[in-house]
Amino acid sequence: MSEKIRVGILGATGAVGQRFAQLLENHPWFAVTALSASERSAGKPYTEAVNWRLDTPIPSELAGMVVSACEPNLPCDVVFSGLDSSVAGPIEEQFATAGYAVISNSRNHRMDEDVPLLIPEVNPDHTAIIPHQRRRRGYGRGFIATNPNCSTVGLTMALKPLADRFGVRQVSVATMQALSGAGYPGVSSMDVLDNVLPYIKDEEEKMEREPLKLLGRCDGERFEPLVLTVSAQCNRVHVLDGHLECVSVKLEKKAEPEEVNDAFRTFSGLPQALGLPFAPARPIVLREEADRPQPRFDRDTEHGMAVVVGRVRPCRLLDFKFLALVHNTIRGAAGAAVLNAELLKAQGYIGA
Ligand code: NAP
Repeated sequence: MSEKIRVGILGATGAVGQRFAQLLENHPWFAVTALSASERSAGKPYTEAVNWRLDTPIPSELAGMVVSACEPNLPCDVVFSGLDSSVAGPIEEQFATAGYAVISNSRNHRMDEDVPLLIPEVNPDHTAIIPHQRRRRGYGRGFIATNPNCSTVGLTMALKPLADRFGVRQVSVATMQALSGAGYPGVSSMDVLDNVLPYIKDEEEKMEREPLKLLGRCDGERFEPLVLTVSAQCNRVHVLDGHLECVSVKLEKKAEPEEVNDAFRTFSGLPQALGLPFAPARPIVLREEADRPQPRFDRDTEHGMAVVVGRVRPCRLLDFKFLALVHNTIRGAAGAAVLNAELLKAQGYIGA
């Protein structure tokens, strides 16, 4: 325990914060030594402060831990942020200024010109911007690294093997997004039962912008986004966990259906090569049945860290269409951030 890297959770009482607490239990490299949330929760033991909504018990070593206010005096070196985006921006900056490595889920700093937006299988080299960020912002040892919006993770992981092998020019995507994506208590049952909500604030803009940064280049001082047009339509449906996305793509080079399937099936990245603890053995799992993936059956594939792709077929408007499923609070949020932290440790940015 004493040799592990000490980590804290900012926003530990929220939907994403609870996932952090759950996923970090028994992590081989990280030990949770601090929990923090708003003034409403500060000073209370975690069991009292949190409305625990996961199907495993609260980790025993966290149950009695007293929740702190979100001030940069926590007994840890790394913080995972699941803070509400209305407050995350300045709080994360305060922690980075105080020398903490800030691994964030929130949208506030994702598109900053000196902050890496990371999916370790897609753009692990973008961490090279961190020394520039530290110099530019005077952060010393601290820094901010972010993971994308939950729907963006599913889309971009599915696009990556196609972009590498064939090039991708245009993407049309329509999502069916789970309730846990809206936090807790989230959407009112009166609004969503027997219904589909055809609007999620700011979601389409994030899905149209973030993949370009993720699939682009980084030269250590700036990002060059991929030239790609994404058109997104986002809907909230009454599924608990797991965002399902209907994707159509226009490729640069002609491809046969079996070549597209092969690109998905054989996709692998640096986390797999390094054997990072949270790396799924297969980052993309291709289902060949006519009616998969489905959120209830497929969201926990590879412990929720794989993107499950299926129904790959020609598209009459663009070139190919398929479905992609991502577990929004694991691969789309807390699990994504833990894998980012593992990558950053392997690259020497934390724990060195
Ligand atoms: P949530 O359930 O509403 O939790 C928000 C957390 O922020 C709570 O711990 C809350 O603490 C804390 N907080 C609120 N105001 C605060 C303040 N003034 N000072 C300190 N802490 C404060 O939200 P969520 O769904 O977990 O989302 C958290 C972040 O992750 C958001 O930025 C969201 O966009 C992003 N995200 C979410 C998902 C998802 O699937 N849910 C996926 C990707 C990204 P109290 O309990 O004390 O109020």
